[in-house]
Amino acid sequence: MTDFTFNLKAQDNKARRGQINCKRGTIQTPAFMPVGTVGTVKALKTSDVEKSGAEIILGNVYHLMLRPSADLIEKMGGLHNFMGWNKPILTDSGGFQVMSLSKIRKISDEGAEFSSHIDGKKYFLTPEKSIEIQRKLDSDITMIFDECVAFPASYAQAKSAMERSINWAIRSKQAFEKRAGYGIFGIVQGSTFKDLRQISSQQLIKIGFDGYAIGGLAVGEGQKEMFEVLDYCPDLLPHDKPRYLMGVGKPSDIVGAVARGIDMFDCVIPTRSGRTGQAFVRDGAINIRNAKYQYDDKPLDEKCACYACKNHSRSYLNHLVKSNEILGSMLLSEHNIFYYQDLMREIRQAIEGGYFSEFHDKFFTKTTQFESA
Ligand SMILES: [Zn+2]
Repeated sequence: MTDFTFNLKAQDNKARRGQINCKRGTIQTPAFMPVGTVGTVKALKTSDVEKSGAEIILGNVYHLMLRPSADLIEKMGGLHNFMGWNKPILTDSGGFQVMSLSKIRKISDEGAEFSSHIDGKKYFLTPEKSIEIQRKLDSDITMIFDECVAFPASYAQAKSAMERSINWAIRSKQAFEKRAGYGIFGIVQGSTFKDLRQISSQQLIKIGFDGYAIGGLAVGEGQKEMFEVLDYCPDLLPHDKPRYLMGVGKPSDIVGAVARGIDMFDCVIPTRSGRTGQAFVRDGAINIRNAKYQYDDKPLDEKCACYACKNHSRSYLNHLVKSNEILGSMLLSEHNIFYYQDLMREIRQAIEGGYFSEFHDKFFTKTTQFESA
């Protein structure tokens, strides 16, 4: 059985082209992970997620522990078997959702107490419990349990959450059962404070992880502030381990973060946008509800290989979305996932070909033409 490894294949300035090898396969990086929060990439069949070229998806401890429960999924053979996805899965530890979704919460050094947003039932999540749940789900990449702060956070708030997260990182690593081909990632916290990010990175490196995530960004700080953190944060992390920017982002966020040395991404934007009528296309993004698409017989994107672009016109999609037909959400979500995977392929080719800077600059010129959707 293979070990969990990361190989850098090429580099263009700070942009990195690599490959993660884990138990259930290889992941070409930079990679985008479609979000399968509750055991489904919303509105897509797993076969369609696979057709898009996605090599890894994300699952979520918080959602899955509430419903249907980690024990049930374990009995059903793990999350891969349960949802019919044979490639790698990364699971988020629940830290972020406890902060953003649960109703009541009391956070202590021991863990986080919260009430389910579904039925109000009380739960207590600790680093040990989160790691145990991720083992039951049979996640290929486990994330440490951390405390996220909202944005803006005061220095004192960010410092205390970062320090607690280091303590939880130590406990998460101890609770993680080492198995060949499985990995565990640390999460750098510290909000927008450089010295906190530095301390967090140093401490995590001392503990030692298979990869390092940057957490606490894309929480409302805006692209400019996010890029300011990314101008130094990836450089604080080991060169020979994958770097994952959590919860990001729009296509331009991804291109800008790759330029700053990030290897992995996840975000609900492609599927969530798909359900509201927004489609990403080569020239930007369009809102298919717009009346100007009513008589448009072209596909969404002529270069896209998805089912919607091969079989349907913008006119038909406009009709489906305006009529609130389920098929409209399905087709647009699938198209957007294809768009994101195409973007990652183009990024990887540009790094390999040594023309990533040019690709980056062209992309940012183009995004000024984005329609507000
Ligand atoms: Zn398409």
